[in-house]
Amino acid sequence: MSLSFTYEGLPSRIVFRTGALDELGVETARLGSRAFIISTRGQRHLGERCADLLGEKAVVVYDKAEMHTPGESVRVSRSEAMRLRVDCLVAIGGGSTIGLAKAIAFEHKLPILAVPTTYSGSEVTPIWGFTEDGIKHVARHAHVQPRTVLYDPLLTLGLPPGISGPSGVNAIAHCVEALYSETANPLVSLMAEEGIRALSRSLPKIVNDPRDVGARSDALYGAWLGGCVLGAVGMALHHKLCHVLGGAFNLPHAETHTIVLPHAVAYNAAAVPEVMKKIADALGVSDAAQGLFDLNLAIGAWVALKDIGMPQEGIARAVELATANPYYNPAPIRPEAIRQLLSNAWEGNRP
Ligand code: NAD
Repeated sequence: MSLSFTYEGLPSRIVFRTGALDELGVETARLGSRAFIISTRGQRHLGERCADLLGEKAVVVYDKAEMHTPGESVRVSRSEAMRLRVDCLVAIGGGSTIGLAKAIAFEHKLPILAVPTTYSGSEVTPIWGFTEDGIKHVARHAHVQPRTVLYDPLLTLGLPPGISGPSGVNAIAHCVEALYSETANPLVSLMAEEGIRALSRSLPKIVNDPRDVGARSDALYGAWLGGCVLGAVGMALHHKLCHVLGGAFNLPHAETHTIVLPHAVAYNAAAVPEVMKKIADALGVSDAAQGLFDLNLAIGAWVALKDIGMPQEGIARAVELATANPYYNPAPIRPEAIRQLLSNAWEGNRP
């Protein structure tokens, strides 16, 4: 078979090492001299650590990042950044924190330095979004892509096992859908397989011993790969379902990905058997969907949407939203089959 693909590399400066946060001052100086430091309220201490490292270049620690980036929070944050006349954004935290930085950067074209403390992968993508009236709006713009990323496994040692596991599976989901993406290409596929390998071997170790620096480093490496492939190629059914569920029912992002992934993979299995083999090989199992479900059990993750706040009567609305606009997926999108997929995920059935 002759190859045919289009590949576009995404520009980011990556500093990956244990203790990388020490380089915050030098790295921020490449981008600006008045930094708006963003965190969630729970991670404010990390924002303050950044402020200490930046000294007079730190203008404020803004701890108002929230899950799903509500539109109102974006409007308030943008005006605060302008009022303080900042010239760069430092986002330390998970995808929610980096998401708020991107929403500010979109309007005001400010460069972002991201310090991820979860495995969402957002730090290396040009994808950003916000939620308004229960709908999650997602778009891609090159200028929201963080210019510099500091990956420091030490910052993830305190990430509780209950957040670490699902966050890592969120990154696995990026890798899985990159492998059967409409725009898949050989380099991205290599990264995706390696991402699944790194995350599936490290997550059980992390849940067992959250302070295992080697496993944390491995998981962060997998998360970087997951983010790279998410930014490089289009996603499919799984990501669509998770956006719909997150926006419509305010479900936690990573947990939703974790629960839905084995079912979305089972849905696509017959359409792309060669990709299923790659996923299974990377997981070290014989069946991709079963292996992903077993990984969820091994890391003690939730396996049922009903357990994370999804109302059963919401399934019909989710099917409607997930099938409203045509989009690429290896297996055809059929409302009845999607309803069955969501019912299985709601119940927590094995795929
Ligand atoms: P999150 O950022 O909401 O963080 C989850 C929880 O973990 C929060 O309570 C946070 O305060 C806490 N936390 C983060 N780091 C911690 C640490 N080191 N120690 C202890 N607690 C910590 O969750 P997430 O899954 O990282 O991100 C989800 C958001 O990111 C969603 O809005 C999703 O849409 C977005 N996302 C975007 C992209 C993209 O490319 N644009 C990719 C993936 C996810």
